Amino acid sequence: MNTVFDDIEVKVKNGIRLTREEGIALFQSNDLSWLGYLANIVRQRISGEYVYFNVNRHINLTNICTARCDFCAFGCDADSIQSYTMDKDNVIAIAIQAAKDADLRELHIVSGLHPDWSFEYYLDIITSLKERLPHIHLKAFTAVEITYFAKVSGKSVRQVLTELHCAGLDSMPGGGAEILSDRVRGELCPNKATASEWLEVARTAHQLGIRSNASMLYGHIETLEERIDHLLALRDLQDETGGFQTFICFPFHPNNTALDGKIIKTSVWDQLKTVAISRLMLDNFQNIKAYWVMLTLPIAQLALGFGANDIDGTVSEEKIIHAAGAKSATSLTKEAIIETIREAGRIPVERDSMYNIVKIL
Ligand code: SF4
Repeated sequence: MNTVFDDIEVKVKNGIRLTREEGIALFQSNDLSWLGYLANIVRQRISGEYVYFNVNRHINLTNICTARCDFCAFGCDADSIQSYTMDKDNVIAIAIQAAKDADLRELHIVSGLHPDWSFEYYLDIITSLKERLPHIHLKAFTAVEITYFAKVSGKSVRQVLTELHCAGLDSMPGGGAEILSDRVRGELCPNKATASEWLEVARTAHQLGIRSNASMLYGHIETLEERIDHLLALRDLQDETGGFQTFICFPFHPNNTALDGKIIKTSVWDQLKTVAISRLMLDNFQNIKAYWVMLTLPIAQLALGFGANDIDGTVSEEKIIHAAGAKSATSLTKEAIIETIREAGRIPVERDSMYNIVKIL
């Protein structure tokens, strides 16, 4: 008699969508090499042998944040000695300096929820960056930030997104999704966008022609069922809008967070398993990103054998995960990324933010 795992293998090989129960069964399997084998089949069918990366720069406008989520080591109060803010001149100077690298294609801008900044400040940042660097793609503001802008400005999410889009916002990062469960969010991050608000911002952005990413922060208090339900919520929305470009799963780093000492950092085993299961469940996502900043470069490289086809970018300089004690570098050279991909037997492809090929290397 066929086991559920035999049935899953047949379905994957025939390109048939997996159910919630099958997703949960996958998490209950500890046959990591089999999970990698299946995820590779899907990866190869959907995205071939290319592994994508881009040359980008992260800018975090402030770490002062009203939400103070339990899993975050980055956000802090205004009177903390670690707090900082960047004014517009600061931001422009950093961006112009970064753009001296002729390969730079993207600015990735995410920040804390500052208690005193108006929506106009963010709008002005986007307008000013676009005026000075019209060729640079601005991937800015998570769905959590957009919800916050709507709250502080009294405007609707649609209006906020429309104004940002007109000002020059090109796409949105996938952060802030954490686990799309009211139970988890109620316990860990009750002061920011709810699960349905996060999804609604993504839906509205896609309707306005703004592509976005999706993510999952796992390895804290969530159950395996909640991980699968999270993936299914994203899969359903992707069926509806087709607006997600890539999915990134972030393993939780407990150091310096409110959960430090209460939760053990997730294992490499779990990290590879979660990448593989994400690839298997998200059959309508073109790209699965192994974000080397969170995983470290060696594990991101391994993840390329577990369904990932993107390794993110050069990043310089990452602050959010490193606040939680991440041991990875804060930036990488293009050469190091290319070498990492080649060593895994795959073809490095420099991409732009919309996954157009810039160069096959
Ligand atoms: S995760 Fe985001 S919203 Fe939560 S405390 Fe950190 S910066 Fe603020």
